[in-house]
Amino acid sequence: MPTLSPMSGKHAAYALTANQSKGRHHPEPAHAFRGLFERDRDRVVHSTAFRRLVNKTQVFPSPTNDHHRTRLTHTLEVAQISRVVARQIGLEEDLTEAIALAHDLGHPPFGHAGEDELRQFMKEHGGFEHNSHALRIVTMLEYRYPGFSGLNLSWEVREAFAHHSKSNDPSLDEYKAAGSPFLEAQVADEVDSLAYNAHDVEDALTAGLVRETELDDVPLWCRAHREVLNDYPGLPAGTLIPTIVRKLISWQVEDLIQQSLLNLAAEGIDSVASVRACPRPLISMSEPMKSLRKDLERFLHRHVYRHTRVQRMAFKGRRTIRRLFEEFLGNPVLLPIRYRNRLSHESAHRVICDYIAGMTDRYARAEFRNLFSAEDDT
Ligand code: MG
Repeated sequence: MPTLSPMSGKHAAYALTANQSKGRHHPEPAHAFRGLFERDRDRVVHSTAFRRLVNKTQVFPSPTNDHHRTRLTHTLEVAQISRVVARQIGLEEDLTEAIALAHDLGHPPFGHAGEDELRQFMKEHGGFEHNSHALRIVTMLEYRYPGFSGLNLSWEVREAFAHHSKSNDPSLDEYKAAGSPFLEAQVADEVDSLAYNAHDVEDALTAGLVRETELDDVPLWCRAHREVLNDYPGLPAGTLIPTIVRKLISWQVEDLIQQSLLNLAAEGIDSVASVRACPRPLISMSEPMKSLRKDLERFLHRHVYRHTRVQRMAFKGRRTIRRLFEEFLGNPVLLPIRYRNRLSHESAHRVICDYIAGMTDRYARAEFRNLFSAEDDT
């Protein structure tokens, strides 16, 4: 039975506390009772991009049913688990939570299929990648504050996007030069995959994409299944599956906390500077758990992400984005005025990409219907 780590709830020497932050781009007076990273977290929650996550595909097409994860509920799960891990390791919880809540803000409609399509259009025009796009959202595209564009988040929350980005965009260099990612960002990153591996199995089962017997050759699932049936013989399927998934999550979370504490001790990590200087990831699962997780990921790739229903959604999503992009390029007059105004000083490709990337799946479909129908807009 795992016990609370001695670091639980206290800041360890390696936590990135607010007094070590490089601060905001536009200086602002301190708040009377909310700390720097608390305000970052709150600004993310109140942003337009955050609310749009509710209608953005995670993996499953949004009309599948009302019970599977959307990008919003996935984000909330990542934030919840990240907070638990951060607390046990002695990290800065508000910073971890802000990064977790913001981590998917840059995703376009229709999941990775949407991202692939935008990347095609932007190949010769500065590229498209969801992390660097999230950075554009929080530094330029949100327009909620009188004194500045974007959300004016602290440097570290912005850095987390840059570290996860595969883009070569020179605007990311400033952040990448800081050294290895700090531990709070590493936690959110590890927990992201931990959360979606677990919930994608549950969603695939409840949506009927796979049958439980197909999981027979996934050792992690089988072990959890055995233990649950041992503890609760005859559990009906409706409760059995969430109970197995809960076990999968707790095993991985416990392993992640314990292995990360071992890593930190083994490397003699005692400050943010020593985290920055350490070339290998410090927040990680144990080797046996990593290998069990690989089997689960292999299953998901083979049986879920390549399932006909998921592929069909991806195909239709890409086509919707392609048609919209081509139509706006040929007829910029169709763009909303706020975007049209940018065309005098920015490339049409970037303006259109920003508009489409901000859309939810629902809005993109409605825009498609409106543009290609002879009727007036609905
Ligand atoms: Mg995610």
